[in-house]
Amino acid sequence: MSSKVLLTRTIPSEPQKFLESAKDIELIQWKEKSVIPREKLLEMVKGVDGILCMLTDKIDSELLDAAGPNLKVVSTLSVGYDHVDLNELRKRSIPLGYTPGVLTDATAEITVMLVLAAARRMREGIRAVENGEWGKWNPTWMLGTQLTNKTVGIFGLGRIGSATALRLKPFIGNEGKIIYCSRTEKPEAASIGVIKVDFDVLLRDSDVICICSAMNEETNEMFNYEVFKKMKKNVILVNTARGNIIRQKDLCRALSEGMFGSVGLDVCTPEPLDPNDPLLKFNKVTVIPHLGSATLETRTLMGNIAVKNVLTGVRGEPLPHSVK
Ligand code: NAP
Repeated sequence: MSSKVLLTRTIPSEPQKFLESAKDIELIQWKEKSVIPREKLLEMVKGVDGILCMLTDKIDSELLDAAGPNLKVVSTLSVGYDHVDLNELRKRSIPLGYTPGVLTDATAEITVMLVLAAARRMREGIRAVENGEWGKWNPTWMLGTQLTNKTVGIFGLGRIGSATALRLKPFIGNEGKIIYCSRTEKPEAASIGVIKVDFDVLLRDSDVICICSAMNEETNEMFNYEVFKKMKKNVILVNTARGNIIRQKDLCRALSEGMFGSVGLDVCTPEPLDPNDPLLKFNKVTVIPHLGSATLETRTLMGNIAVKNVLTGVRGEPLPHSVK
């Protein structure tokens, strides 16, 4: 008898075909471009053996109850799993598959892009060109800040944090410094010349702060008004991890009080952000729509891993990549 797998979106063609070609699977799929509505998800999940979900699908006790006793595996097409109630899965002995590693380069790349875009006022520059505000070359117009000799603070030196540090090193040069803050010491940090500091030191000393940590109870809204006040006045703040790590209301307040040199965000709250959101009124804020892993290469690799995770899970085999 074939196992039922629910796929909550259309994924890139290679992993999509890979899943469709599995002979022992009955594929149930939400094929619309939009996120599957919750009611529909609760209905379609009934009786399935495996779920291949996105970070936009909340996996909680209600959903697991709706799925019922056949459910053997949840596989998410992401490395972050803050949308999944891991304790609920553990209680039910259901493994969670995820996609670590393959999106590190793409996300580090976009982190560096946002640091550069924020530092060099890219959003304002593009707008000036488009709005006819580009006058003759002017020695004092649109001056940004450059990375040479600066101190970069990486909050969360995991896979993406380390890859970002490595990529930023050539920009800061020999006189620049990279410091980091994580829960645990990272022995590999020494080899890339990155120094562990306390959170307050990271806030005090960094010219650029990149948020690269996981989103969890501790990091939820960790970057709030009190924290912003401890940063340098002209700090460049970039978040490519999860929107909730920053308390966005406080970010707007701090910006309105003149804090920050500039801000670059790939993630925010909510997503999508309303075009009239107060955050977008600040010229020095650059927001892009959660593009961290959005390359064809990366999404294909993520898809292949997510499919392998769900297939091995429904077959009762150990997942190639499961959250420990
Ligand atoms: P990872 O290797 O697990 O790294 C996560 C890091 O977060 C770890 O170094 C961890 O430190 C740190 N951390 C967790 N809680 C912390 C705390 N309270 N204080 C300080 N550091 C803390 O994961 P990754 O592959 O680099 O991915 C990181 C996150 O990026 C994911 O969780 C995901 O949410 C986000 N992401 C976003 C995109 C995007 O499209 N923008 C794409 C991929 C990933 P310890 O090791 O010391 O615990």
